[in-house]
Amino acid sequence: MELTISRIDVFQVDLPYSGGTYHLSGGRQYTSFDATVVRITANNGIEGWGESTPFGYNYIASHALGVRAGIAEIAPHLTGLDPRRVDRMNDVMDDALTGHEHPKTALDVACWDVFGKSVSMPVCELLGGRTDVEMPIISSIGVGEPEEMRATVAKLRAQGYKAQQLKIGGEPVRDAARITAALADKQPDEFFLVDANGGLTVEAALRMLRLLPDGLDFVLEAPCATWRECMSLRRRTNIPMIFDELATSDASVIQMIADDAVEGVGLKISKSGGLTKARHQRDMCIAAAYTVSVQETAGSDIAFAATLQALELSLV
Ligand SMILES: [Mg+2]
Repeated sequence: MELTISRIDVFQVDLPYSGGTYHLSGGRQYTSFDATVVRITANNGIEGWGESTPFGYNYIASHALGVRAGIAEIAPHLTGLDPRRVDRMNDVMDDALTGHEHPKTALDVACWDVFGKSVSMPVCELLGGRTDVEMPIISSIGVGEPEEMRATVAKLRAQGYKAQQLKIGGEPVRDAARITAALADKQPDEFFLVDANGGLTVEAALRMLRLLPDGLDFVLEAPCATWRECMSLRRRTNIPMIFDELATSDASVIQMIADDAVEGVGLKISKSGGLTKARHQRDMCIAAAYTVSVQETAGSDIAFAATLQALELSLV
């Protein structure tokens, strides 16, 4: 059956952060996120939805106005094409605009949604099949005072979170206090990530690690802003590490594995440019026996649904 894109609509929505103000390293603060939602309508009336919501303007090289400008550039090239041919759609998008993965995300996810609806199957089945394995949901706790972070961990633990992500600010003494407090009540089956969002110098990271009590069980995420600094830190510590902001493409994931740079990765659908590209990166990381955490930069339930499909979980 012929199925082609006949219309693409774009919507803007402000998504206030439910926790008030979210704090990241380097004094970055966020109270609301600017979301772009795309609706693709096919010639048979099927509608596919996708979303792309950058984490503000200073997390990675993406921003909300750029998402909408990018979609305006790309969308005219997609009408009349079959959205189920997802790799070919990505070829067309990459030919129309180099880089700029955030706008491509909303379009790519909407194509997958049309594909799934056209065959009455969840997208996770089209991506390889759901695993039926129960997966822990990871929290994300903004930079705060040590005891305040400990209390937040306790609250989330009571809600059933088995994995906690703690944000740190970049100053060694205060960060060591945050980590020590937040891990004080750690249960044996819990997993902790300490995420610096690239905010530590190598010096600050080494000082922070030396200030911690022995035996704290956590993985350090995105310690430094650059590849060279992360590799320098890695040579001088045995702390397990994962990348996030530095892993945004097939090329960076290949480099990460080739350099033995980390033990895992935080994938985000919109960093990668959608489910089609995130799937390559997920599969390369699984083949490298990495720990893989699938997340989004920010977003509504539309973005959340895409992350679940990439994990091959199904809420159907
Ligand atoms: Mg991260």
